[in-house]
Amino acid sequence: MKVFEKDNNIFKLLSEAISEGIIVVNEDQVIVATNGSANQIFGYNTDELIGKHLNILIPKKHHHNHHHHFEGFVSHSEKRNMGKGRDLFGVRKDGTIFPVEAGLNPFAIYGNNYVMALVIDITLRKQQEQQIQHLNTQLEQKIEERTEELHHTIQELKEEVILRKEAETKTQESLKKERDLSELKTKFLSLVSHEFKTPLSGILTSATLAGKYSKTEQQEKRKKHLDTIKNKVKYLDNILNDFLSIERLETGKVTYKFSQFPLSKLINEVVYDANMLLKDGQRINYPKDIDDYVIEFDEKILELVLSNLMNNAIKYSGEHTIIDLQVYYENNILTVKIIDQGIGIPKKEQGFIFKRYFRAENALLDQGTGIGLNIVKSHLENLGGNISFTSKENQGSVFIITIPITNVLDS
Ligand code: ADP
Repeated sequence: MKVFEKDNNIFKLLSEAISEGIIVVNEDQVIVATNGSANQIFGYNTDELIGKHLNILIPKKHHHNHHHHFEGFVSHSEKRNMGKGRDLFGVRKDGTIFPVEAGLNPFAIYGNNYVMALVIDITLRKQQEQQIQHLNTQLEQKIEERTEELHHTIQELKEEVILRKEAETKTQESLKKERDLSELKTKFLSLVSHEFKTPLSGILTSATLAGKYSKTEQQEKRKKHLDTIKNKVKYLDNILNDFLSIERLETGKVTYKFSQFPLSKLINEVVYDANMLLKDGQRINYPKDIDDYVIEFDEKILELVLSNLMNNAIKYSGEHTIIDLQVYYENNILTVKIIDQGIGIPKKEQGFIFKRYFRAENALLDQGTGIGLNIVKSHLENLGGNISFTSKENQGSVFIITIPITNVLDS
């Protein structure tokens, strides 16, 4: 033990220059030597620790553990860092506890075993570690917040993109509408110049001729020319009505007016007008049993639909043919069939017949615009109805319309 005695300065001499605290204990964990740094770290005076049990430097709650480790360590007796994987703590004289790092060096002198502990106060390092950890946590939080903000911004951008796309689609739609309308106007102008020419010159001729029959007994001849004029004016009026219909359908300005009216009154008007267009020997079969029907529907539209179909049946059929008009009412559905014995529609063109301006090859010799069926279909569909047809070239066609009628009264 002499090596650690007061008078023996060798240990003191060697240890005082070292900044780590040095504590030497014997096998009983009694402190036999300390250097100035150790005293300072733990808050003791010179030599105050000599002869004290090592426990004085260890917080109470770690005593049991430490004893256990110490015994294991002395028996293995090799140099190592203390407290691997655990936090170590020391206790100062004033009772404050602080974190330490300790390296242990067992050695033997004169047959006695000792352990020299090199101790560093790591309070500052721990504080810095904690600060770093704190900063790290703050940084992580910031990153999380920023990521969240970024997600938010991306979401907002996505919504913005959707809105812009919608606006773009709307602009494109209205552009298309504008284009369609200007196309319509162009078509109308070219149609007026072509399609109106023949009927107008017909009207002029008939008017001139009618003017020549000035005698009373020539009334029959006058009437013939006046009928031709009426007929041609009606034809031009129909074309104009069709164009107005398209314009209203295109601009969304179409409004439907429902009213109650006897079906027979409407059919009479349609058949009366159609009669004026009949070719030689053509005949219309008037529908049976419709006198009792008072229906609620848009009268003008139904008239437009039926006159278009009747006019087509007459126009696209030869002389001495019959046009059959049939009406059925069942399960709140009114069905009207217009059957002709005309030129029919070629099979390969049947798929396009409702397309605007479409005219089948075999119809081109007759006057026409290719508008009628297109608007008939649009109006019927807007009103919950439907139109279909069957047709055989050179044999005839059957056009069938159905409209929902909830209110059929017996007049
Ligand atoms: P338009 O008669 O003025 O040409 P529509 O839209 O009424 O225009 O008809 C489109 C086309 O459908 C006609 O050009 C014709 O080819 C065909 N079509 C319509 N109705 C008949 C019919 N009853 N018989 C034969 N073809 C028809």
